[in-house]
Amino acid sequence: MSGILKDRAVILKTWEYGETSLIVSALTRSGGRANFRAKGAKRAKSPMHGRFRTGNVGDIVYYDKPGGALKLIKEFSAGPPFDSMEAGFERLCIFQAGLELAGRASAGDEQEGAVFDLVEAFIAGLTAGDDPWAVFFVLETTLLAASGLMPEIELCDRCKKELAGCGFSVNPTSGAVECDGCTSGEGTLSPESCALLARMASAGFTGLRGLKVTAQARREIGTLLHRMLTHHMDGYRLPGSLGVLKGAG
Ligand SMILES: [Zn+2]
Repeated sequence: MSGILKDRAVILKTWEYGETSLIVSALTRSGGRANFRAKGAKRAKSPMHGRFRTGNVGDIVYYDKPGGALKLIKEFSAGPPFDSMEAGFERLCIFQAGLELAGRASAGDEQEGAVFDLVEAFIAGLTAGDDPWAVFFVLETTLLAASGLMPEIELCDRCKKELAGCGFSVNPTSGAVECDGCTSGEGTLSPESCALLARMASAGFTGLRGLKVTAQARREIGTLLHRMLTHHMDGYRLPGSLGVLKGAG
């Protein structure tokens, strides 16, 4: 028996399958990450032709298959795709890095709806033209916060000094927030980066309008979040497309 299911899905990746089909890896709202077969989708006349671009978000109808067999897509109606030409190279790399990160975060996660909604907001933020690094950092901090790993950035955990206006670091292992006077020194954020991180962590995707991430803040915040994710998220590694960006920059 196989049932017909409806869901929302964001396309993560596709592979060719035989002459005319595609294997589609997608993140669905109710079911998390799963692999599907889109039969005949490579045929120019197929109503599904060209629908499965990475990052496309839409309504999916599929036949669920028992025993881990590939689910079969019946329909997929995607909204307008992410325009990679208009977005530019940096935004495109960040877009792919975000999908990669979220796709990995979702595996075996019971909060699938939350991860899916996060990806949709991430894509919307990039499309709206907000600073792509700010959008990416909000994705990372929200993923960390969802696992209870994003610390409150208010007081130094050691001396209890208020952190507003001073530099601090986050111990990637313990999650302890330490002011610039208490920290051992490595990975300390400048006051500017601290203010920016605190703002992004509290405002989320909707509070990014007009915000600019400088090269220094990008390095400092990016390194800190990367260290925290490395310590706490199983299977985390630096998304390949960020490596590409480093090579290009
Ligand atoms: Zn302190």
